[in-house]
Amino acid sequence: MSRIPRELFVPWESRYLAYEDRPLPIGLQQTISQPFMVAWMTSALGLTGTEKVLEIGTGSGYQTAILSELARQVISVERLPELAVNAESLLAKLGYFNIEFHIAGPVLGWPLSAPYNAILVTAGAPRVPQGLLDQLSIYGRLVIPIGSRYDQELVKVTKLAKTNITEYLGGCRFVPLVSAEAWEET
Ligand code: SAH
Repeated sequence: MSRIPRELFVPWESRYLAYEDRPLPIGLQQTISQPFMVAWMTSALGLTGTEKVLEIGTGSGYQTAILSELARQVISVERLPELAVNAESLLAKLGYFNIEFHIAGPVLGWPLSAPYNAILVTAGAPRVPQGLLDQLSIYGRLVIPIGSRYDQELVKVTKLAKTNITEYLGGCRFVPLVSAEAWEET
């Protein structure tokens, strides 16, 4: 995390806050996550460097850069084209080349490149989307905030051959995941 210049991922007017441990607005009613939350979610994925990781909610691209440093390949999906384009150009400038960027389609995630060893969702959903479990490989880990539109709990699901292991990691607060498998747009 200390290698990644977070000030480049926040709007110009909030650069002086870039090294505070707090989320910040990035426009279009979205936020860059709090650094502690980024660290916590990333560590929950248990990456070793060999994984193909799916990230849902590129946003600023900050979390994407962290995943890029710790995994073999990152597929990052964002619903809002403006955010996706900005993140893609910033991460190319910073020299991250193991990332594929996609604009979200009607199906949650990116089934075309599945299965993934790890999936990280950086927006909140009412329940664990079955469609994402389907895109996970056996022994794959899904980390996702689950709860109401305003308050969630971080949930880690490890997929096994016959059953899944679900762990509850603690409270968090994310913007809503907008999808047929989650929330409607407001
Ligand atoms: N990790 C990002 C978080 C951005 S906020 C960061 O720290 O900068 C969550 C993001 O999820 C928003 O940019 C929002 O547009 C996106 N999002 C919401 N629903 C989505 C969906 N169904 N597919 C892809 N992205 C989605």
